[in-house]
Amino acid sequence: MSTPDFSRRRFLGLALAGGASASLAVQVKKLPDVHARLAPVGGDRQKEVVEARYGLVIDTNKCTGCQACVKACNERNDLPSDLSYIHGRVKGDQHLRWFLMVQCQHCADPPCATVCPTNATYVRDDGVVLIDEKLCVGCKYCMYACPYDARIFDQERGVADKCWLCLDWVLAGGEPACVHACIPGARIFGRLDDPDSTVSQLVASGRARPLRPEFGTQPAVLRYVIDDPAEQSTRGA
Ligand code: SF4
Repeated sequence: MSTPDFSRRRFLGLALAGGASASLAVQVKKLPDVHARLAPVGGDRQKEVVEARYGLVIDTNKCTGCQACVKACNERNDLPSDLSYIHGRVKGDQHLRWFLMVQCQHCADPPCATVCPTNATYVRDDGVVLIDEKLCVGCKYCMYACPYDARIFDQERGVADKCWLCLDWVLAGGEPACVHACIPGARIFGRLDDPDSTVSQLVASGRARPLRPEFGTQPAVLRYVIDDPAEQSTRGA
């Protein structure tokens, strides 16, 4: 997969460094068009016509807990070693041990957006939940509201951050860094609006389902294959 040599966090660090207008101009010119759509100003969000509905299925039968997804995500987003958009849980018992990797589920009805006093968090038509970092005041309400514990607070940027599905790569025809890095192929990414895609077929088969649907947040992007009978009733996060 071709991936742009670009760190969002590094770029934002440059953008926030006042007085560096000349070097900033150079950085901005280097950005592909897709990045402009990821940096909305005020209400100027998602101008493009969106047809895609993205899906990311995590097959817990294949996940080995190797943390390659976490490492790739941290590198992509230039996160400090003690923070990650993805957190893993060890599940099961001595007979069956498996791993549940949790990140932002990109909810269609996200409580993190409901409680946000500045409307910094918003849902795109393709299902991806983004944060307008210019509007985030760092109040952390979203962190308490998210039932999946999917938010982290980036002290340096003052932003309650989370997975953004590597949307610039996705819009350019690629896939999120975690999917690209997954060694056993436990992460399957594709378009839910394409009935022939693997993610669509996994969802249609009933094997790939939202995590903890009882939360009522209607995860739009993430689905999980969990075959552990003990988890079938609770789908515990
Ligand atoms: Fe918001 Fe949490 Fe849902 Fe992500 S998983 S959209 S952070 S409520």
